[in-house]
Amino acid sequence: MGNQEKCVKCGHTEFAEGTDYMPIKPSKMSFNGSNKIYTFCLKCGEVCSIRIENPTIFKK
Ligand SMILES: [Zn+2]
Repeated sequence: MGNQEKCVKCGHTEFAEGTDYMPIKPSKMSFNGSNKIYTFCLKCGEVCSIRIENPTIFKK
């Protein structure tokens, strides 16, 4: 057991992760894209974190 995250809005402690249907890309011309991972509260839907799956593709 680690430290449990709490929703800043409602205090709920259950979260779910989901991804967007559109990958995020460094530019419109890029072939490479990375999924966005959303972590949100299962009760009120407050998004507590948005994470990029492969941040290394943005490295220049
Ligand atoms: Zn909540």
